Amino acid sequence: MDAKERMKLEPVPMRERDVSERVAGFEEVNRGYSEQEARAEAERCLQCKKAPCREGCPVDVDIPGFICLVCEGRYAEAGLKIKESNAFPAICGRVCPQERQCQATCVLSKQGKPINIGYLERFVGDYLIEYPPEQVGSTAPTGKKVAVVGSGPAGLAAAGDLAKAGHQVTVFEALHEPGGVLIYGIPEFRLPNLTVGHEIQALLEMGVQVRTNTIIGRTLTVPELLGVIGFKAVFLALGAGAPIFLGIEGENLPGVFSANEFLTRVNLMRAFRDDYDTPVQRGRNVVVIGGGNVAMDSCRSALRLGADSVTLLYRRTRAEMPARIEEVRHAEEEGVDFQLLVAPTRFLGRDGRLAAVECLRMELGEPDESGRRRPVPLEGSEFTVEIDQAIVAVGARVNPSARLVMPGMSQDERGHIIVDPETLMTSVEGVFAGGDVIGGEETVIEALSHGRRAARAIDEYLNS
Ligand code: SF4
Ligand code: SF4
Repeated sequence: MDAKERMKLEPVPMRERDVSERVAGFEEVNRGYSEQEARAEAERCLQCKKAPCREGCPVDVDIPGFICLVCEGRYAEAGLKIKESNAFPAICGRVCPQERQCQATCVLSKQGKPINIGYLERFVGDYLIEYPPEQVGSTAPTGKKVAVVGSGPAGLAAAGDLAKAGHQVTVFEALHEPGGVLIYGIPEFRLPNLTVGHEIQALLEMGVQVRTNTIIGRTLTVPELLGVIGFKAVFLALGAGAPIFLGIEGENLPGVFSANEFLTRVNLMRAFRDDYDTPVQRGRNVVVIGGGNVAMDSCRSALRLGADSVTLLYRRTRAEMPARIEEVRHAEEEGVDFQLLVAPTRFLGRDGRLAAVECLRMELGEPDESGRRRPVPLEGSEFTVEIDQAIVAVGARVNPSARLVMPGMSQDERGHIIVDPETLMTSVEGVFAGGDVIGGEETVIEALSHGRRAARAIDEYLNS
């Protein structure tokens, strides 16, 4: 088939659960490609020599290379091709915002029909989980021990690359399961914990050790890790686990939650399952404040927990929403009411509990420092919505407890650990940091990219 004929082929859609089935439970919404669908989608790829799609991928996956192997039915090899750059294809195929990354720069996006790179990557990642390839020869052990603090995407990516380089890696995790935001933040219907578990298992098989229920800064300290315990380097991948609140009246009323707490109870602590006794409020009339993936996840989780109505309040328009397009579409299909250009001004209580939220309508003014148009309040536009639960999903910042990890380490006024931009080393010799804790890594794949960069820097340090 020549390029002209390929360009006439239509994209293969992802099969999804029906809306009524979706909102009745937490099963994954997207069903994945069949082999036939994956090959049909892969057929559309033009195998461009310059492959502009690769420029959109933060870890530079060889996209035409793996798609070509899918075309030929060589799925395990396609998986290994992706794993040269990204150890987590089943995760990234599901959660990367492809429409802003690899698919945005695909040549076929000009016709509105980019290759569904994420769907193909997910297919290949799931294939590797079902048919794990044999481990091929490993690098000779260096005998050097590296500690990774935090088992979110940045920590896991660094651990994988450091293990590949022959170092003996231990990942320390404060919670009882590894995965960080992948397991406490992203719901089952978008990224099953089992999928995360399988991709972490592949790291364990490479020799990475994971110690859960261990808080560095309390259970053990960084000086102890570098001293008596004998680690030669430490990588701090602490993430950004402290929720940001709105700072408005009534925010302390029972019934107002951070998305972080709400989603952790539901995802990690399994509050949606009858066989777990994790308490969670099941609101009847719920508002969620925010416009990102966390806000969409909160809305859709509240619906699945039985809410009669879920309203999203977002102070800008749909065009400025940072959430993935697919999550926005799924939320709308499932019945979330989008109230755009609306901001809450205070929460109102009755009998000591949340009873309503007062809001103000907005219009868009000049762009702010983020480049997005600033919302400006419309005077006299106040209105009130009766609710019994509010979930605040307006972002997260570095946990103030990060300073306990290594007293005296330099941090900026927002708590970000200050690192050398080249080496990612902190102000303490042998201690490196990356991911959200140094600021600016917004997506899972950007955090993975950071972890990989840190692993290269640590390897160079250990070999110097
Ligand atoms: Fe696209 Fe993410 Fe895969 Fe990169 S890792 S090719 S951005 S889906
Ligand atoms: Fe294939 Fe699109 Fe990449 Fe070209 S730009 S190689 S069509 S995925």
